Order: sequence, then C-alpha cells, then structure tokens
Amino acid sequence: MLRTVLSPDDCAKCRFCCSFRRQSLWETPLFPAETAKRLAERYPRARFKPASNGYLTIDIDSDYKTDDPEEEALCPFNKNGCVLTGDDKPFDCSIWPLRVMPHGDRLAICLTPTCPVISAKPLDIMRELVSGEVGDKVINYARTHPEMIKERRDDFPVLREFDA
Ligand code: SF4
Repeated sequence: MLRTVLSPDDCAKCRFCCSFRRQSLWETPLFPAETAKRLAERYPRARFKPASNGYLTIDIDSDYKTDDPEEEALCPFNKNGCVLTGDDKPFDCSIWPLRVMPHGDRLAICLTPTCPVISAKPLDIMRELVSGEVGDKVINYARTHPEMIKERRDDFPVLREFDA
C-alpha cells in the first residue's frame, strides 16, 4: 500500500520491521483466527498465540537465545522477505510504518519513527500520502478493526487525525 514511498526492493534489503526485540513484541502482527489456522498448517514452524479481540499473533517468545534486551527474533514468515501475500498478509504489515493510535478523544494515523527508509524522508511526504486514499483506507480499516489500534506513543508523530 505504501509503494510510492517504500519500494519492495527497499523492504527486501531490510528486515527491521519483521524482527522484534522483547520490548517491541507489542508490534507483532495480528492474524484473524482462520488465517492463523491455515498458515500454521502450511508453515509448521510458525507458532501463534492469542492477542486481542480473538486475533492471534506470532509466538516468537522461545526464539530468543540470550538475555540481551537488544536481541531480535525474526518473524517466521520472513525468508529473505515476507512470504505472505494477499489476504494472508496482516494489515498491520501492509501499512507499516503507519500506526493508528488514540489522540485525545480522536484517533490518529501516526508514523513509527524507526523505519530506516521512511525516517530519511521529510515528514511532509508521509503527511501528503495519508491525506488521500491511503489514509482513507487505514481509517476505514481501523474503524471496523479496533484491535489494530495501538497504545499512544508520544514519539510517534501524528500525520492525520480522524473521529473514532
Ligand atoms: S508477516 Fe511478513 S511483513 Fe509481517 S512481520 Fe512477518 S515477515 Fe514481516
């Protein structure tokens, strides 16, 4: 969805958003239960655990080999890039580094500040992107899938506000 600002080539060279430190586990993607069941059959090494609202997320807790808080565990669906396509791909992943968060009594599309490619671009490029169709899609999805709304993080700049 973000191809105009983030090319598949950029993402293939970078596994940043598919690797998780323990403190980043709140960011692991959400899967509808039926999708997780189908993927668990197709990818036996992938494990899932309950998340919110009946959704599941990847269970990578036992993949950490050390106590180092900086150690990262890779999503089981990353094999030199994400193997998931179409409806199998979590919406969370298709819009990263965008995130929906509370903003006062409203909601906002915010920007994860750590994407190495996007953070090198002016913020106005992302504001422009979400001012149109991309932002509308994210907003409509958030309104019907409240489980994707994350807790507010002050270091995530607001790109566009909207009514809940
Ligand atoms: S599902 Fe795909 S895009 Fe999402 S974190 Fe896993 S490998 Fe990355």
